[in-house]
Amino acid sequence: MRWFYRCPGCGAKYAIEPGRYLCDECASKREPDRPLEGVLECEWEAGAKAEAAAERIPLPVEAEYFPPIPVGDTPLWAPSRLREELGLPFLFVKDDTCEPTGSFKDRASYLVAAFAKKHALREIVLASTGNAASSMSGVGAAAGLKITVFLPEKAPAAKRIQVLQYGADLHQVAGTYDVAYEESLAYSAKTGALSRNTAYNPLTIEGKKTVSFEIAEDLAKAQGAARKAEGSLGPWLAPDEVFVPVGDGVIIAGVYKGFEDLMKLGRITRMPRIWACQASGSSAIARALESGGFGKPVESDTIADSISVDVPRNGAYALAKLKKHSGRAVVVSDEEILAAQRILASKAGLFAEPSSSAALAGLVKARKEIPKDAKVVVLITGSGLKDIQSAAKGVGVSL
Ligand SMILES: [Zn+2]
Repeated sequence: MRWFYRCPGCGAKYAIEPGRYLCDECASKREPDRPLEGVLECEWEAGAKAEAAAERIPLPVEAEYFPPIPVGDTPLWAPSRLREELGLPFLFVKDDTCEPTGSFKDRASYLVAAFAKKHALREIVLASTGNAASSMSGVGAAAGLKITVFLPEKAPAAKRIQVLQYGADLHQVAGTYDVAYEESLAYSAKTGALSRNTAYNPLTIEGKKTVSFEIAEDLAKAQGAARKAEGSLGPWLAPDEVFVPVGDGVIIAGVYKGFEDLMKLGRITRMPRIWACQASGSSAIARALESGGFGKPVESDTIADSISVDVPRNGAYALAKLKKHSGRAVVVSDEEILAAQRILASKAGLFAEPSSSAALAGLVKARKEIPKDAKVVVLITGSGLKDIQSAAKGVGVSL
């Protein structure tokens, strides 16, 4: 099937090949300390629509290159006690704590690893707040790739240990994620290693879109509406509301991309309303949605380490999608995040890390705006075992 990269800003097209990351023209317009410009999107060529429609989840790398590790197809389940607690009888959680490395990031790592295998690339490098690093290390181990990661020193211990257990090269950076990001780009430029930096590599967004396909397919099954139309899959069912934890803006970009693809394929008939849930100590995208654009970076400070960024790399792209589809932002405090973490664990039996709990905290805060009969999905992106330190605070235990 034929695919290409397209720049949503200027419409330029590029081949999907090693060494291509951003749109040349638009990337050069980026101002210092602002989100990336010229982030590219994957598209199938017009003539390939029938082929795309025949695939359950059309992706720009052929199935034979994906590593032998079971990424995706995580459960969409109905937490009945949480439904009662929130008065939302059609609430679902999409549980990506069940991914092989315990994080949603496996969806991106899986596609990037497949791309590396297809092009016989041996090494992948990335910067991360923790989850992308442990994810790429695990998926890379299954694929037999060398993985090099740049991680802030203050990343939770579990994530650093995961990286080392999977056999990756770990460079600890004295500074924030933003410093690690720049160092990883310099390493990639020097060595030619494939960069899996989130948003910078467009495949990270494309890999994450798979979650929307699974949600729409499983919701249709839950409604008993799944059927195979002649020559294509569907119809499937879009939820009414989706709550997504947001830091860099790549997960929400992937979620949007998935639902947009489903619209293009005619499998769903309308877009869901998507809520960008941010921590009050790292809320650049929410602020930009309110004010219309990105201002000077503010130093991030939140216990939700996975969504703690000064400059949201994919902020410009995520903001454009939120505006285009009338998405909303909701900002929650660390206390609200820890409270949501306890609610999720004690009412659903699902132990999520603080960043994922921010999505539920967002729902709790926006509850009054959600119709009672709405089909609501909360995206739970990472296991609580990844950051015991923060979880301990939530139950009054000092470690
Ligand atoms: Zn462009």
